[in-house]
Amino acid sequence: MVVERKVEREVGGFKMQVELFNERFDTKVYLIKGVNAAFVNSIRRAILAYVPTLAIEEVDFYKNSSPVYNEVLAHRLGLLPLITDLDTYEIPPKDVDPRDFAKYHVAFKIKKTGPCVVRGKDIEFNDPKIKVAQPEMPIVTLLEGQELEATGIAVLGIGKEHAKWSPAHVYYKNYPQIKVKKPTTSKADAIVEICPKKLFKIENSKLKVDEGRIHECSLCRACVENFPEEISFEPKEDEFLFSVESFGQLPHKVILEKASEVLTEQLNKISKLL
Ligand code: SF4
Repeated sequence: MVVERKVEREVGGFKMQVELFNERFDTKVYLIKGVNAAFVNSIRRAILAYVPTLAIEEVDFYKNSSPVYNEVLAHRLGLLPLITDLDTYEIPPKDVDPRDFAKYHVAFKIKKTGPCVVRGKDIEFNDPKIKVAQPEMPIVTLLEGQELEATGIAVLGIGKEHAKWSPAHVYYKNYPQIKVKKPTTSKADAIVEICPKKLFKIENSKLKVDEGRIHECSLCRACVENFPEEISFEPKEDEFLFSVESFGQLPHKVILEKASEVLTEQLNKISKLL
């Protein structure tokens, strides 16, 4: 378990705590205390729908003798997560051609001849800061003599318009509270067996919860529904394990900061309308 930094804010008696709980590969899990499900779900939805990222939007093919049709290849290119620079680029307005303004697009080209696997790193963007987040991601296989030549643009957009612009997979669960009411129960073996996460153990003939792994509980309730006399289970209503699995376009911190900004802007708009 990693506890990097704890942030605590108190506004009008409402106290919220946030700490980094653990991290694994591209996923960071935050423990958020002192809030309700509506609040964490608002952050989740703001991340999915309103945090902007860059994605390929237009592709012009000059040569494509690969086995994959232009339309399928263009779709595949559009779904590649691109390292995003939010300071340089802006979301193009609906009535503007993004190619007319440098701040609304970044151009790219791709030129490969087989035999090879065309990968994310083979796409050359005009701006060297912009790259495919996972450079080894395969796009298409070219056999001997097959060619792929294309140009196009990537633009900033939001997940509300298309999922390709979403920066992360985000999910949360209440922090579980599990207690053994009868440690010497004769049903201990059955309780150990029923938990899919194996969170119960028997030590010195006593049934115990593996406290160090309690966060792994899937909240399935199988223990309490089958053994209500022996186990008590109560998810904490104001504590959440909030997981952000970044696709690589933006750092986790930027994703959360941007989502908070978006939420604040939307709430300010509501206040003005009242
Ligand atoms: S709720 Fe499910 S996962 Fe959690 S302790 Fe009970 S049986 Fe195990």
